[in-house]
Amino acid sequence: MSQQPLLQLLHNASLGSLELKEPLNFWCGARVQARSAGNAEPVYEPATGRVLCDLPPCGAEEVDQAVRSAHAAYLKWSRLSGMERGRVLLEAARIMRERLVDIAKVEVVNNGKTLTEAKGNIHMAVQGIEYFAGIAPTLAGQHIQMPGGCFAYTRREPLGVCVGIGAWNFPLVLAVMKSAPALACGNAMVYKPSPMAPITAVILAEIYKEAGVPDGLFNVVQGGAETGSLLCHHPMVAKVSFTGSVPTGKKVMEMAAKGVKQVTLELGGKSPLIIFKDCELENAVKGALMANFLTQGQVCCNGTRVYVQRDILPQFLEEVVKRTKAIAVGDPMLDGTRMGALISRPQLDKVLGFVKEAQKQGARVLCGGEPFVPSDPKLKGGYFMSPCVLDNCRDDMTCVKEEIFGPVMSVMPFDTEEEVLQRANNTTFGLASGVFTRDVARAHRVAENLQAGTCFINNYNTNSVVVPFGGYKMSGIGKENGQAVIEYYTQLKTVVVEMGDVQSLF
Ligand code: NAD
Repeated sequence: MSQQPLLQLLHNASLGSLELKEPLNFWCGARVQARSAGNAEPVYEPATGRVLCDLPPCGAEEVDQAVRSAHAAYLKWSRLSGMERGRVLLEAARIMRERLVDIAKVEVVNNGKTLTEAKGNIHMAVQGIEYFAGIAPTLAGQHIQMPGGCFAYTRREPLGVCVGIGAWNFPLVLAVMKSAPALACGNAMVYKPSPMAPITAVILAEIYKEAGVPDGLFNVVQGGAETGSLLCHHPMVAKVSFTGSVPTGKKVMEMAAKGVKQVTLELGGKSPLIIFKDCELENAVKGALMANFLTQGQVCCNGTRVYVQRDILPQFLEEVVKRTKAIAVGDPMLDGTRMGALISRPQLDKVLGFVKEAQKQGARVLCGGEPFVPSDPKLKGGYFMSPCVLDNCRDDMTCVKEEIFGPVMSVMPFDTEEEVLQRANNTTFGLASGVFTRDVARAHRVAENLQAGTCFINNYNTNSVVVPFGGYKMSGIGKENGQAVIEYYTQLKTVVVEMGDVQSLF
């Protein structure tokens, strides 16, 4: 009997009512119950604190089934032309666009971010699938002439079964950023979402199926560290693409190394945003807000170390604080809300703890940094806080050195370009960076000298599926998005052709 798609069951999802009994694993083209309900972990609705469902983790047997299902589908899918694969992906993008609002609502329920942002996220996911659908037919090797009329050519071939492991802050986007290029290049994927945001990856799997990908090509296994580690160790897995924290990324790399598997690591950051006194101040203020408060500050590439040239610090702070205080926190489903709930109670406590620690170390709270209780009684148990601006920060404070992953901006003055570059680069992270200035030469000089995988000039967080994204230093290895990602989901075969006789030395 065919299953009713999960998104139909969750149609027009709203806060405070969802209870999910459906299994959230997906392989061989269907949702599958985990073998044992033991060790199930509750999945919460961040805006209310309610339990949405219990999530039993997949064990060795289930992981093996998912990987084998992927491998069988890979053998068929990899034989299709790029044009054929692209056509199926385009259909998936079309279906997703048609259901964009419904999917966004599920993301709000499971993640706590605002519907406005969630719609933008699903739109980005649609664009990602479209972009890689377009790339699929363009995959090609090179023709290389050699002496005596001989030649060689290269073939771009898929890797096989790729594993994707995702974080909870952009549940659907991350699943798409990994699966769309993987599938476009002819691979199969087993994806493990974060156990805190497990739902939309299953919706993606059902959309791929409906669009025509073979059963088993894209699979979802649920679970936490143990399930993730089973995936990383599985001998039939060729590659692991991981998004998450630096400590987990290191473990993933170690596990993958045992099987000499390729890895892409998209890890955390503590990115600098440098604001020179010759900037367009209003844009710089707006940029600083975009750099800190999207998705409740739970964005890997956020520019949370804000360096402001001393002469304009007072005006900058006045404007930033005014606008931060005006951010509407609360019901994430409402159109006017600009900040929803953090992902979990422990995450909220951790972020509030960072604010307290910053105060102890001498920082001044200019606004926010407190738990926030919305007036709607159904949201009383939600994980809300007021967005926070910290002044009087120093480079050696915990709030400036560590990734907080919450709505907390740390502001520091600087005097010269040379000094600020040295301070901005004095970190083990290197995910992103930003600079505001009207001086074109300075903007590009600063971009060149910042040790980070991305530099935004005169804006922030303007990421796009068409440009490569990935970290320097401990923020990661490899790229997602843009044409660059092809390198990370294919391997290059060299074919050398002799046109004459063999000149043997023997
Ligand atoms: P996390 O490292 O705790 O978990 C990430 C994923 O890894 C989850 O699916 C988790 O279940 C899994 N996992 C945990 N232990 C594992 C193990 N031993 N083996 C295999 N898998 C394991 O990170 P998180 O709290 O979910 O996400 C927040 C972090 O992710 C932040 O540091 C953030 O900066 C980072 N992030 C980075 C990017 C990027 O593109 N660079 C994007 C989003 C989030």
